[in-house]
Amino acid sequence: MHSHDVTLAERKMQFLFALRSAGVTDTRVLEAMEKVDRGAFIKGLFSERAYEDTPLPIACGQTISQPSIVGLMTQALEVQPRDKVLEIGTGSGYQAAVLSHLARRVYTMDRHRELVREAKVVLDAEGLSNVTTFAADGSFGLPEQAPFDRILVTAAAEDPPGPLLAQLKTGGIMVLPVGQSDTVQHLIRVRKTETGLDYDELCPVRFVPLLEGMGRDS
Ligand code: SAH
Repeated sequence: MHSHDVTLAERKMQFLFALRSAGVTDTRVLEAMEKVDRGAFIKGLFSERAYEDTPLPIACGQTISQPSIVGLMTQALEVQPRDKVLEIGTGSGYQAAVLSHLARRVYTMDRHRELVREAKVVLDAEGLSNVTTFAADGSFGLPEQAPFDRILVTAAAEDPPGPLLAQLKTGGIMVLPVGQSDTVQHLIRVRKTETGLDYDELCPVRFVPLLEGMGRDS
């Protein structure tokens, strides 16, 4: 075996260990994350750090989330193999790639056209054909594909956006960070039941804000 291969294998082991230490214990989620090459979603020099448990910069002043947070959010979403999932905040496309291994279909939206364009190239190259990308303001969801079994928001809103709650199926789950961007945010899970919405607070997090309208590309 080449020394390079050993290094990559070791990095992957450490990566999975970091996920488990952070509380990502769901076997299906760990398997999905083992399948996705995070380095493919990061451009330039930072790609060398793809297997560190750290957020990294991507285009348009945005960030690819920390892997352990991706794992915890994905685990909290309890994705089932037949599910139709909506993700708000495509960013690099990494989270969408993880979801694509767990769900039947994934729709992902970002307000930056440039990010959506680049994410689509990588998702296609990775052969993840059950993901569809959209350049649009995700606060309004995707009415033409609604309702969704699961909705994941990867940018922080002050409150769960009404249109997204409306586009969630009864029995569905939405996971999102809530709180102002300059203060502490919390990861929230919302379950839609026959009688209403059940909320639970999962952990403190730090995300870029969910902004209105389309973004100006970098
Ligand atoms: N899930 C991404 C990381 C997301 S970073 C990944 O795996 O790489 C948050 C993203 O949310 C940014 O790309 C930002 O442009 C996007 N965003 C912020 N507000 C938005 C909105 N209203 N609609 C769609 N995307 C939004």
